[in-house]
Amino acid sequence: MSIAENITEVKDSLGTCHLVAVSKTKPNEDLMEAYEAGQRALGENKVQELSDKAEALPKDIEWHMIGHLQRNKVKYIAPFVHLIHSVDSVRLLKEINKQGKKIDRIVPVLLQIHIAEEENKYGLDEQELHELLSSEAFKEMDHVDVQGLMGMATFTDDKDKVRREFKGLKKLFDKTAQQYNDEKLNLKELSMGMSGDYKIAIEEGSTMVRIGSKIFGERPGGGW
Ligand SMILES: *Cc1c(COP(=O)(O)O)cnc(C)c1O
Repeated sequence: MSIAENITEVKDSLGTCHLVAVSKTKPNEDLMEAYEAGQRALGENKVQELSDKAEALPKDIEWHMIGHLQRNKVKYIAPFVHLIHSVDSVRLLKEINKQGKKIDRIVPVLLQIHIAEEENKYGLDEQELHELLSSEAFKEMDHVDVQGLMGMATFTDDKDKVRREFKGLKKLFDKTAQQYNDEKLNLKELSMGMSGDYKIAIEEGSTMVRIGSKIFGERPGGGW
């Protein structure tokens, strides 16, 4: 199947959920194939690769940063990134706010939550999320727009376990939105679901799935 056909197939099961096509490790020709098929939201997990591709490809592509982000690299993507999914510490959020202020841009982000029972070392836990959102430091950050939460389930064939993890994240999302949404904060996006588990994620309330190999084909060596 072609990239365009894969996108069509994935889109058929999305409903109102948005698709971020994860193009990491793939050559620009493949990204252009997705672009020609109408796909504008592309996801990358490395700053250098994302920047190079953004430079080379059409300007109306929406670039999503989905991988672990080092603070010293925020400045390279802050001017144009559409959404950073992977904010996993207060220090990183502060740096994004600082860079946003410098260029007078409010940078859209999601907070990454640790939901997998094993693996995945990145992400805030529930306690850290509450500490962040209720802190004075956060109230003073006026150059970040926290739009929601992101999480990755355990990489496993155990579908019940994956569903439990997504359910837990959705519950935390609802609770947090109810508690904190106000004039400044509007949590509305829930980024969860990848090639192997997006159907479960959608059933459990995802608003945004991040799908790579199912669209672009397997990455050599898994390509994380
Ligand atoms: C690579 C990656 C994806 C996509 O993975 P696939 O299994 O290829 O769909 C989604 N989210 C993150 C954070 C990733 O690093």
